[in-house]
Amino acid sequence: MSAPLTIIGSGMAGIGLLKQLRMLDADCPVTLITADSGDDYSKPLLSTGFAKRLAPEKLAARSALEVAAQLGAVVRTHTRVDAIDVQERCLHIGEERLAYGELVLATGAAPSAPFTIPEALGGRVFSINDLDDYRDFHTALEAFGQRARVVIIGAGLVGCEFANDLAAGGHRVSLVAPEQAPLPRLLPEPLGRALGEAFAAAGISLRLGRGVERLERVGSDVGVALDDGSQLEADLVLVATGLRPRIELAQAAGLAAGPTGIQVDRYLRTSAPGIHALGDVACVAGVNAMYVQPLQASAKVLARTLAGSPTQVSYGAWPVLVKTTLLPVVALPPLQTPARWRVEGEGGDLVAFAEDVDERLLGFALTGACVKRKVELARATPPLLG
Ligand code: FAD
Repeated sequence: MSAPLTIIGSGMAGIGLLKQLRMLDADCPVTLITADSGDDYSKPLLSTGFAKRLAPEKLAARSALEVAAQLGAVVRTHTRVDAIDVQERCLHIGEERLAYGELVLATGAAPSAPFTIPEALGGRVFSINDLDDYRDFHTALEAFGQRARVVIIGAGLVGCEFANDLAAGGHRVSLVAPEQAPLPRLLPEPLGRALGEAFAAAGISLRLGRGVERLERVGSDVGVALDDGSQLEADLVLVATGLRPRIELAQAAGLAAGPTGIQVDRYLRTSAPGIHALGDVACVAGVNAMYVQPLQASAKVLARTLAGSPTQVSYGAWPVLVKTTLLPVVALPPLQTPARWRVEGEGGDLVAFAEDVDERLLGFALTGACVKRKVELARATPPLLG
């Protein structure tokens, strides 16, 4: 019997690909290997669960067992692939050698922190990047009751969404980041400030323009020492300082990869024959968008390719909807640095146009009531990957 198509990773990219493939080919043997629990869940929901007090079980659409039964695959959970042998076309899992037919890397991106997290703070300092992390943080939060003091480090999409969600859930939230305004990679400063004002009005304490020097135990609290000499005391700390594509497996196997991800072409082919990549780990023709719509488009075309009809992926002008209910935000950041950001509107209802020197629209950002302009503006913006 020939070796199965093997997918590493059970996030939205890995399971999404398996679902798409099953629509085209009900029978081809597939093995899905994942380091985590293998539950089928929507990652964006992780940062909406605390306001609604959702238990982790509520976030999983189906278990790994159900994925295996319903999508006809061998699913191996809590199994970490240690290495890829490109010559022998097999994976190393501990002492085991597992042959693959075609291989798909959907290993996602891992949280990265610019400071050391002391081991002694285990159980008090978290990152939430999958359902298992959500489970752990949820349990820790329950132990501190209704009004836990949570310091969130990092004011990007993940940090801002958790700040909003935990504050809506009744917790006392502080948000620390070195930038002057939230969402620095998605919003020009005036819109970021508007979001900061909405956060402050809801009782979130903002410590912007401040770096974290160290985390330490202070009595029964976690101390977060800032670079202005001040210190915050917390029950729990959530680190949201960015995600890095998990390229180690690919890089060690000699595949072309770098800080933006595993390099793939528009067929999602890596530099090694028979190996594809998609999702947060993949840099597709120079673009690693790291959000859901691009990975869904990739899953669709890769399923066609694997089913025998090679198809290239394209990405539209797909804005990101940030789930900050205190002030809704939609953004389509420009791929290149704009000549200027032109801002219109007042209060929290703002539109920012990213324009080149000839006033052509390269991207945009919207807050408050102006988010309703997302479709109109997306139509006027160039695609991410046309
Ligand atoms: P992952 O979900 O990270 O999956 C990677 C998989 O690979 C995991 O199963 C892991 O166990 C496995 N793995 C890794 N290494 C190995 C190994 N060596 N061996 C075996 N298995 C391995 N995007 C949006 O578009 N809209 C949103 O509103 C939004 N909200 C978000 C909110 C949060 C809190 C976060 C963290 C992200 C959000 N995103 C959002 C981004 C989006 O969720 C991600 O782009 C997407 O889920 C990435 O999926 P993935 O399958 O590529 O990676």
